[in-house]
Amino acid sequence: MGFLRSYESLVISSLSRFSRQTAFVVALGVGVSCVSCGGRGGGRGGDSRDGGGGGPAGDNLLIVSIEPLRFLVDEIVGDDFEVGVLVPAGASPETYEPTPLQMRAAEDARLVFSTGVIDFEHVMLQRLSSPERFVDLSAGIELISSVDGGAHVDADGHGHAHGGVDPHVWVAPRGLARMARTAYERIHELYPDSTSYTANYARLSERLAALDRTVAERIAASPTRSFMIFHPGLTYFARDYGLRQIALEHDGKEPSVKQLAETVGLARAEGVSKILYQSEFPRRVVEVMAAEIGAEPVEIDILGYDIVGNILKITEFIAPSATPVPKD
Ligand SMILES: [Zn+2]
Repeated sequence: MGFLRSYESLVISSLSRFSRQTAFVVALGVGVSCVSCGGRGGGRGGDSRDGGGGGPAGDNLLIVSIEPLRFLVDEIVGDDFEVGVLVPAGASPETYEPTPLQMRAAEDARLVFSTGVIDFEHVMLQRLSSPERFVDLSAGIELISSVDGGAHVDADGHGHAHGGVDPHVWVAPRGLARMARTAYERIHELYPDSTSYTANYARLSERLAALDRTVAERIAASPTRSFMIFHPGLTYFARDYGLRQIALEHDGKEPSVKQLAETVGLARAEGVSKILYQSEFPRRVVEVMAAEIGAEPVEIDILGYDIVGNILKITEFIAPSATPVPKD
């Protein structure tokens, strides 16, 4: 397997390049999100909220840790709030830490929504003067421990170190639905008289239930029972639909040459035709692997705003059908 030798040198060069790239994106991303936090806050309506409107900017501000959570919160509160995001889409903070400006925004915000399982969220929680405004959206979700149980930091922005838990709870319709419910409950506690939030949540909840049905039906109708992915971001998705996730990455690190050789064998045995990967990870490593087993590298997005659309795309990659997945 001559490709393994070239893989070795590839890993080294792509890793060092990736770190430099990451540092740049983090610096850029944090600046952008600070602008959006402090930005349009003020004069928004708040008409549907009891006692809302007219207050300082913080009254109209909600903070979320990652983009998919902004989708959930937006769907519930509509235009009543400015929703600031800490890690913008496309950013890959290897060791992300909230900036002082972001901490100030979090202090001002009515609520800070987190997945509850990403390391930097806990750093933030520890620094917040009123931790009761911190919302852990993983509540009620049966968490999965990370494969090797070891502590490591993800290149896509979240450490798996926190309690050895796999953090990708939002990349699954059922997890998302539970997160939406917790978000709604906390918002409803603050604004019990708002009927629009209740109606919005009911609509969101139905949409996520429909997403779950679509994915379940699609996978049941497909012969696919396993899929290959660079970084194991679909652990909860795989669990919920009875699929086997074969990850190239081991314990948060790129595979060793020995591990890669084993995975090549497994991929051939399973008849893998696609390798899923996130843009936050070095594509060239995936390409080498894909070429070796004759598979197609397919880019997925699990950190973007449109998590419903992205889950539908992932479903189509894993369980392709003659007719495309209906647009949500
Ligand atoms: Zn991850």
